[in-house]
Amino acid sequence: MTGAPGQAALPGWGRPKKPAAATPTPGSPGLGDSYFPDYGNGGYDVGHYDIRLRYEPATDRLSGTTTVLATATQDLSRFNLDFALDVESVRVNGWSAGFAREGAHELVVTTPRPILKGQQLTVVVKYTGVPSETLVQGYTGWTRVADGALAVNEPESAWWWYPSNDHPTDKATWDVSVSVPTGVEVISNGVQPRAPLPEAGNRTRWSWRSVKPGATYQAFLAIGQYDIVTDTAPNGQPVLNAYSTTLGERAPAARASIERTAEVIDWESGVFGPYPFEAQGGVAGPVDGIGFALETQSRPVYGPGFWRRGSNTYVVVHENAHQWFGDSVSVADWRNIWLNEGFASYAEWLWSEEQGEGTAQELFDFTYANYPADSEFWQVLPGDPGAADVFADAVYDRGAMALHQLRLAVGDEAFFRILPAWTAEHRYGNGTIAQFQALAERISGRDLDAVFTTWLFTAGRPEPAAAARVAVAPAQPKSWTGIRAAHQLLDR
Ligand SMILES: [Zn+2]
Repeated sequence: MTGAPGQAALPGWGRPKKPAAATPTPGSPGLGDSYFPDYGNGGYDVGHYDIRLRYEPATDRLSGTTTVLATATQDLSRFNLDFALDVESVRVNGWSAGFAREGAHELVVTTPRPILKGQQLTVVVKYTGVPSETLVQGYTGWTRVADGALAVNEPESAWWWYPSNDHPTDKATWDVSVSVPTGVEVISNGVQPRAPLPEAGNRTRWSWRSVKPGATYQAFLAIGQYDIVTDTAPNGQPVLNAYSTTLGERAPAARASIERTAEVIDWESGVFGPYPFEAQGGVAGPVDGIGFALETQSRPVYGPGFWRRGSNTYVVVHENAHQWFGDSVSVADWRNIWLNEGFASYAEWLWSEEQGEGTAQELFDFTYANYPADSEFWQVLPGDPGAADVFADAVYDRGAMALHQLRLAVGDEAFFRILPAWTAEHRYGNGTIAQFQALAERISGRDLDAVFTTWLFTAGRPEPAAAARVAVAPAQPKSWTGIRAAHQLLDR
């Protein structure tokens, strides 16, 4: 590196003077997640991704260079990145590095010089590929559409467009820029540090920046024909919404929902604490795109199915609640998915209550009655659903029921202090269900083991608390249809 004259080198930059005694060893090929043990990699911590791409909608060819800024957390003889496209070259701190593919999605990088703990790493990966045809165990998380593509998925998304340490425990900021033929739009997270820039060959480069740390699957691309609407939110932040021009008669319903994003975030900020990100918005994807919605950081992406029967604010409430629960506070291990989906689903019940479309209690009663005691639904544990059931109905619906039972156990006063305390304590970090229980117990002064065990970790339909009146045939809350319509697509 070259430093400014008279300025001390950044601490930790370059090679530490004293080699550590231990022999450098390979970074582990995974982080030991209980559901996805080979996701992420050991031995380093990423601070920033600079993703610079070129994309051809006509052929789905993606090429580019990603620069990963990281810090070694051990002495390394080699390390892995998670990536699926074809790699042309890898450099580490300017030195050409060896690379090889291992397993389903591992890129093993070997440097000619050992890496020492604490060392700053600048890893430059050049690559190319056709992501829609790059299958990992028969699957691609990249969705090619008639006018472009969507890189929107959970938990596997990054493998098809940028090399990463692909686990929510390694958060980073990111810049992404994509060159496309002029006339094609590229939407991503955060803010645009500059307007789209014309390039040679009738092309335009779009740039986006995310300045708050996020999990790898929070980054997204939506490439195609979009109408863009910009505004300023009540809190002064930029709002940018984008609507696929393919939506046709669904476009007004999409706008009537997504244009309420700033209002939803304003209300959610009052319940959950300060909004954690630098921008707001939403992307209504094309008719041939995704069949779900995802809480991509600062700007969720919605599939076209949500606008089938008209507007749906419940899905907007759900995805934006995830900005606190899932994005700012991310799972420490995928088995804690209830911290994302249970909370985002309960946010819909709170919004229903706020809108006068049915109280959370009425939604609890109706949801409880909706699943008979012998339903398979009650066999999935929201607190530990298993890798195949991370997005099962129970994680969402029983997950929301669990939060309602917690609210009944501690009372509204404590419950509405617990939610913002959780988002404040783990802001831009990670959390576990055990940590959430401990926080709820600390704030409420109650032993909550029975509530958590019964509603999150015990198979079978629990008896609701005495406070919950479960009528034999509870009336259907007004919000039920909208919430169901959203969940039929959200629960996968
Ligand atoms: Zn969700």
